[in-house]
Amino acid sequence: MNVAQIMQKRTALSFEVFPPRTDVGMERLCGKGGVMEKLYSLNPDYISCTYGAGGTNVGKNLEVMDKIAQDGKTVGITHFTCIGNTKDGIRRQLQTYLDHGINHMLALRGDLPHGWKGTGGDLHYATELVEFARKEFGDKFCIAVAGSPEGHIDCTSLEADIAFLKQKQDCGADFIMTQLCWDMDQFRRWLDAIRAAGITLPVDVGIMPILDQAATINMALSRNGCVMPRELCEIISRNWIFPNPFVKDPFDTEVEAKKAAFREAGMEYTVKQIGQYLQCGVNGIHLYALNKFEEVNFIAREAGLLATV
Ligand code: FAD
Repeated sequence: MNVAQIMQKRTALSFEVFPPRTDVGMERLCGKGGVMEKLYSLNPDYISCTYGAGGTNVGKNLEVMDKIAQDGKTVGITHFTCIGNTKDGIRRQLQTYLDHGINHMLALRGDLPHGWKGTGGDLHYATELVEFARKEFGDKFCIAVAGSPEGHIDCTSLEADIAFLKQKQDCGADFIMTQLCWDMDQFRRWLDAIRAAGITLPVDVGIMPILDQAATINMALSRNGCVMPRELCEIISRNWIFPNPFVKDPFDTEVEAKKAAFREAGMEYTVKQIGQYLQCGVNGIHLYALNKFEEVNFIAREAGLLATV
């Protein structure tokens, strides 16, 4: 059974990791007794691994995917983007994944590197990548695509964005992984709107654990323009690190205490939000694990996710 088929039957649980830049980070993630092996103990339906813009970390991505494939404890899903990739290059890389036993992918346009106006490759949108993968490889891949409940930052309207999502379904996508969205009212509106538009694909919700002030603000605002609800803003304000959470040497005397309090309140907020998503009847919870185990373990347990698999 592929991951999309599992989601047709029950709520799936999954994690997302990223390829570490250093050997030490790689050992911590993929080494014996490392984060990956601890994540397996939570019985995820899959673990996905990000793919860097411009193909900068392709080698490390494949190393992580190889680890998952060789361990055989869960399904591995590789993210894959159009950035800087020719059709020949895409064909070659996708064949390599298949040769390594990896037959699930998240087909993305990709984040445009700073200053770029387009993908710099032969394909320009995720729809084209899904179409190309289907033409070249038939049903060999189970293909996920991204969905943006608040509308992608570049879209001309939410309706247009949903119409492109419908095109991804028509091109052969199997399920949707969503961009982070803390605005539950907007998420419910979007879910109703995609169903009304004829999109029947399972929806796997991307959840970023709230653990660090700077990272939370960064994720919301550096690319995605996400709404931050009042409750989340209050958690940030109450634990604000002065002069701001981005400086290397803050003059605040309570940095460590504030970091810990933020992390605790953020995890509680994340657990509560997962409950609200489950009430919407979503098909999967996809936790951005950020290459951490303790926090993800706590959140998954408290949210009752370990009972769903
Ligand atoms: P698309 O679906 O192609 O959409 C991009 C924009 O173009 C949207 O505004 C859309 O409305 C518009 N559009 C779509 N099709 C057309 C068309 N035919 N004509 C005109 N306009 C169109 N990025 C990475 O680089 N690496 C990763 O590993 C990665 N992982 C991610 C994981 C998840 C779960 C998610 C949700 C996102 C991830 N991203 C990653 C980010 C993603 O690449 C960006 O959000 C990117 O800006 C858009 O990708 P997309 O696949 O949604 O693009």
